Amino acid sequence: MSLSLTVLGCSGSFAAPDRPCSGYLLRSDTTAVVMDLGPGTFAELQRHIAVTDLDAVVLSHAHPDHWVDLTGLRVMTHYELGIDHVEVWGTEENRGMVAALCTSIEPALRWNRLVEGAPFTIGDLTFRTARTEHYVETHAVLVTGPGGERLVYSSDTGPGWSMDEFAHGADLALVESSYATAEQLGDVLHLAAAHAGALAASAGVKRLVLTHLVPGGDADEHVALASAVFAGPVVAARPGAVYTV
Ligand SMILES: [Zn+2]
Repeated sequence: MSLSLTVLGCSGSFAAPDRPCSGYLLRSDTTAVVMDLGPGTFAELQRHIAVTDLDAVVLSHAHPDHWVDLTGLRVMTHYELGIDHVEVWGTEENRGMVAALCTSIEPALRWNRLVEGAPFTIGDLTFRTARTEHYVETHAVLVTGPGGERLVYSSDTGPGWSMDEFAHGADLALVESSYATAEQLGDVLHLAAAHAGALAASAGVKRLVLTHLVPGGDADEHVALASAVFAGPVVAARPGAVYTV
């Protein structure tokens, strides 16, 4: 099996019924990593994988809708399963928030600080990150699978960010599309659907999966607006969807 992406949740900013916040399971034949772990996604994760088979957690930034279920994972691994030193990659700011919510980080978790541009390896997957345009230190993530296939995840970003060099020609781009139109978006540091399409087109990626839609949005409208800008296949993420990269 090459690299696959399973959507655990894809709601932007807050969860909705049956639609947890951001969380994605990455799998190859030998490696399993969860990328972001927002509210509701730890429960979804357990539909797809035994927690004992999880190799690591990668968190893109400190906004709670992208990580708070790490607290549940920590309790399960440390107290129920007796597993310590779960590998977590994230920002220093995020580490501080986890420490504030939990009585301790060590020994349950082993925190690795994300450094822009510095590659790291988990099993047979290679990761590299790039800072986006957002309110806190936020890392887009480029994942390279065992066959050289590449997935890029924008995490959260404003329209000033480009992935032209970071992820040029990636096989699959998972890009935030918080609102359908620029008018709905206003001046917040997120993307409208046309921004997501333009980001993908400019970087020459092969496929686009829209995510982080704020609940209430019309997924078909997002896809239509992004498709007007990006010529390749476009879909909107939904919980449980699996994409082979
Ligand atoms: Zn954010």
